[in-house]
Amino acid sequence: MKTRRRPYAEQRPQDLGGGVWSVPVPIPGNPLGYTLVYAVESPKGHVLVDAGWNHPDAWDALSGGLAALGIDVTTVSGVVVTHFHPDHAGLAGQVREASGGWIAMHENDAALVRLMTEFAAGEHDAFQTDMLRRAGADPGEARQAMGGRPTPPALPDRELRDGDLVDLPGRKLRAVHTPGHTPGHICLHLEDADRLFTGDHVLPDITPHIGIYPYDRDDVDPLSDFLESLDRVSDLGSLDALPAHEWIFPDVAARAAQIRHHHEEKLERLRALLAERPQPLTIWEAAAMMTWNKPWDELAPMLRGMAAGEAAAHLRTLEARGQIRRLAGVEPVRFHALDS
Ligand SMILES: [Zn+2]
Repeated sequence: MKTRRRPYAEQRPQDLGGGVWSVPVPIPGNPLGYTLVYAVESPKGHVLVDAGWNHPDAWDALSGGLAALGIDVTTVSGVVVTHFHPDHAGLAGQVREASGGWIAMHENDAALVRLMTEFAAGEHDAFQTDMLRRAGADPGEARQAMGGRPTPPALPDRELRDGDLVDLPGRKLRAVHTPGHTPGHICLHLEDADRLFTGDHVLPDITPHIGIYPYDRDDVDPLSDFLESLDRVSDLGSLDALPAHEWIFPDVAARAAQIRHHHEEKLERLRALLAERPQPLTIWEAAAMMTWNKPWDELAPMLRGMAAGEAAAHLRTLEARGQIRRLAGVEPVRFHALDS
């Protein structure tokens, strides 16, 4: 597929018309390249949609990019983040310090930020070690797949729920709860302009990571949530999409349908894979057999850990649909297909 992706160095702050601007903010050392931060004008000041990665270069790009568009970062009235991930919420705290404005996010992600803030370093290691063992990773591999404790973003001042209007006098910017990538991911519908800020939920070329942590949870089903969230966005019609990465694109409903199709195919391939095996598979074994953007042997340990999270999410959805089952009381957890 031909990609329209351009490196960060070729990105520029842009006036998108209708009182909406975009500023590319670099994500140092990350192949995604940049986060698109949007500013929306209102008589009470500008509200930012996402803020970018917490790094001095990113701050310079954000404050400098806004200034180039005639917006002083110290006059920003608030930041609404689409979800708590560091490339979106990372700089929200610094914007709040500089401007005295508020930070808003969905209540489910706010709860996660509180949890992360309370997580001690040792607890995080134990959590990962247990999770990897129960997924069937061998101890050496598990050690390499461990990530450091994530740095939590600033706690929000305001919590949003589905359907809430963001504090933006004179305009209508409504939160649309789209869980999946995170439990509290929101898209923001600018109803007075038929535009949808999609965060990571709907991107023009790539698809967001959908994982389960710990991998063997059976009380959540984030992939089913994500697929329903794609339908929610499709129901809004063929709005222009303003995503947090890559580029702006028309007809969010068409792209949402493509992404749904991609996951349905992946689910069917995984179901068929389990059906062909006489022995039940661990999450790790299933992940190693699935198709990723690189062969499993070439995936770095951290990326294998993420692939396992994604495999776990697909297994959980097949289980919820009654197509596969997990064996009771075994460790590591194993799944087998049911006759269809
Ligand atoms: Zn994200």
